Amino acid sequence: MAYKINDDCINCGACAEGCPTEAISEGDGKYVINPETCIDCGACAEACPVGAPQAE
Ligand code: SF4
Ligand code: SF4
Repeated sequence: MAYKINDDCINCGACAEGCPTEAISEGDGKYVINPETCIDCGACAEACPVGAPQAE
């Protein structure tokens, strides 16, 4: 399991700053989470102003 950022992302970068494993990077039109390094901590979901990171 890993978190995944949906299309609501507005590219603010708040999630990437708070990720403990630096699993989040700027992708094509939205930020993306590397499922290999995401540890499911949920910090990105809490930091996001639009609720884009969702647990899968
Ligand atoms: Fe990073 Fe935690 Fe979000 Fe995974 S759930 S992308 S480890 S902040
Ligand atoms: Fe996108 Fe939310 Fe991350 Fe901002 S905090 S870059 S809106 S997923």
